[in-house]
Amino acid sequence: MTATSAAAAAYVVAGLLFILSLAGLSKHETAKTGNAYGMAGMAVALLATIGLAADHGISGTGAALLVVAVVIGAAIGIWRARVVEMTGMPELIALLHSFVGLAAVLVGWNGYLSVEADLDAQTEVSSDLIGIHSAEVVIGVFIGAVTFTGSIVAFLKLSARIKSNPLMLPGRNRLNLGALALFAVLTVVFVVEPNLLVLSVVTVLALALGWHLVASIGGGDMPVVVSMLNSYSGWAAAASGFLLGNDLLIITGALVGSSGAYLSYIMCKAMNRSFLSVIAGGFGNEGSAASSDVDYGEHTEISAEETAELLRDAKSVVITPGYGMAVAQAQGAVADLTRRLTERGVEVRFGIHPVAGRLPGHMNVLLAEAKVPYDVVLEMDEINDDLAETSVVLVIGANDTVNPAAAEDPGSPIAGMPVLRVWEAERVVVFKRSMNTGYAGVQNPLFFRENSRMLFGDARERVEDILRAL
Ligand code: NDP
Repeated sequence: MTATSAAAAAYVVAGLLFILSLAGLSKHETAKTGNAYGMAGMAVALLATIGLAADHGISGTGAALLVVAVVIGAAIGIWRARVVEMTGMPELIALLHSFVGLAAVLVGWNGYLSVEADLDAQTEVSSDLIGIHSAEVVIGVFIGAVTFTGSIVAFLKLSARIKSNPLMLPGRNRLNLGALALFAVLTVVFVVEPNLLVLSVVTVLALALGWHLVASIGGGDMPVVVSMLNSYSGWAAAASGFLLGNDLLIITGALVGSSGAYLSYIMCKAMNRSFLSVIAGGFGNEGSAASSDVDYGEHTEISAEETAELLRDAKSVVITPGYGMAVAQAQGAVADLTRRLTERGVEVRFGIHPVAGRLPGHMNVLLAEAKVPYDVVLEMDEINDDLAETSVVLVIGANDTVNPAAAEDPGSPIAGMPVLRVWEAERVVVFKRSMNTGYAGVQNPLFFRENSRMLFGDARERVEDILRAL
């Protein structure tokens, strides 16, 4: 067997391992195995690629550079994965997507410059092949550059280095469509006559478009944007695969691209958003700006001891955790509270919003880590109708996902997003540190309702106070 056919066989094995990995990652119970398949697939792919490079007569320096790059990349990857806080995962993922985009831009430019060098050296290259190659170059550079700047903006927004409010340029939809139309024209020009100027213009145009697309998206839609950028990074990798003639990169890119697109679609459905509107940068989301200056009246505070009193008398309790539970690392204390109340005969269940926290499944991961049984952890749609018959809802560090304005105020920036209808319960206790808004920057009228009580302070400390008082 030649090295090339051995590498092709190894690529098939790696591709299958990636498919098994995706299947495993779709459920909590099998997620760890899914990760293991993914790591095994990547190890096979790396070994096969290095073997292939060696067979193609890579120089000693080339091989050394390859190994150095792999070692440095692996070391940085292991270090980041070890030190990253759970709450910092989304921005890390956005940053990693930006690297895939940048790599696709560099591969595209390299593809263009190497063909130019061949032509300069008078090497025979068929004009049909040059046309196909030029199309691959320009499309790869475009997708890569959009992914690169889009992911950088997502990183800045998710890490709160810039505001999550949408940038509302006048005529922004027309700007986006205009940029796409210009790209189509420039692609044709580049395929007919590849030249440096056109490729430079496409690169700058795509960098600006990526920036604008994500800057125009409001905080509430960021989860969909993260999965959409995941999808773009997959297509960028697939485009690089075509340019490099690497089948595995095409397969892997297509897997990531299509699974990311499907996840974006599912999240759009869950959040009642139009898929097209989100991928086109907040299309049709005119005129609603985040506001926190509406006067909803006074809020009422409650102490941990009074909350313990309420819980002692409750028949049923629903806990709706959000990003603040992750910040406070309150999941262990919340799990203890669940056990204590259950022992006292109180029915305790959890209501999980699809975009609670900062990652799909963020709350489920934290609760699983704290050993909360899966059967009391329900999805939003499974619990919403029961909330009206619930004695006490504990909103632990959640804000946007329990905001009645989404359901009741058509002018709200998060209007139409399905939320947990916690205000229908007999009593609601909201755990947070201040009256600040949540991720979307929208004030929450829940805090001022007659049946709501605010329990201020760090969520973990307050839950521990309640445990002591019980
Ligand atoms: P929010 O981000 O809306 O609100 C979190 C709340 O937690 C804040 O109001 C904050 O109030 C409180 N908080 C923070 N730290 C603590 C602490 N130590 N103790 C107690 N409270 C604390 O959370 P939700 O989970 O309700 O909503 C998620 C938001 O994030 C949505 O807008 C969603 O669209 C967005 N998003 C979700 C992603 C996902 O994939 N899940 C990805 C990207 C964005 P205070 O400061 O007063 O304490």
